[in-house]
Amino acid sequence: MSEDDGDLIPVVLVKQYIFCPRIVYFSEVLGLKERETELMYEGRDMQWAEDRRDRRRKRVPGTGLEARGAKHGVLYVSRRLGLAGVVDLVVDEGGVAVVERKAAKRPKRVHRNHLYQLAAYALLVEEATGKPVMRAYIHYLKSGDIVEVTLTDEAKRHVLWIVRQIKSIIWEERLPPYSEKPACKSCGYRWICRQL
Ligand code: SF4
Repeated sequence: MSEDDGDLIPVVLVKQYIFCPRIVYFSEVLGLKERETELMYEGRDMQWAEDRRDRRRKRVPGTGLEARGAKHGVLYVSRRLGLAGVVDLVVDEGGVAVVERKAAKRPKRVHRNHLYQLAAYALLVEEATGKPVMRAYIHYLKSGDIVEVTLTDEAKRHVLWIVRQIKSIIWEERLPPYSEKPACKSCGYRWICRQL
């Protein structure tokens, strides 16, 4: 992205907004960085290793999709959507599919923030390719599961609503109200959140 792309919202921020809107304020208004944990380092290593394996594979595991010709880690940017993001894997074979990797075990239910992260990637890829994204998957690296996710038009519209909420937090420098939630236990901004 260039300097002119300062108004674009990274897709990871959409994911974080759903985790907790206060994180948008801490990272984008105060410019604070999340406290990194051993798990995060381990997760990054797993993603790199999987990316190398993906580039050698003939098929994307668990999907039946042909891997040759797939795009790995490509940055998609859309001024119209106000979004930008790097998609782990895009396959264009009899319909476009996107794959997102998570360095985690498969949960009982796909997390909401991951679902909307995929919906945001789908919007970007649809605009870039001019084709609808027909399938979306999350690859849980720690358990080896690949789960297909249904992306509705409503989910995609909700992404655009979230983008507007994120921009308003940033432009108005507005700290969303605090509310204790289970996510607080694993939040990398807990140290600052409790002070404000
Ligand atoms: S500690 Fe809880 S309320 Fe504060 S930013 Fe994190 S998730 Fe949000």
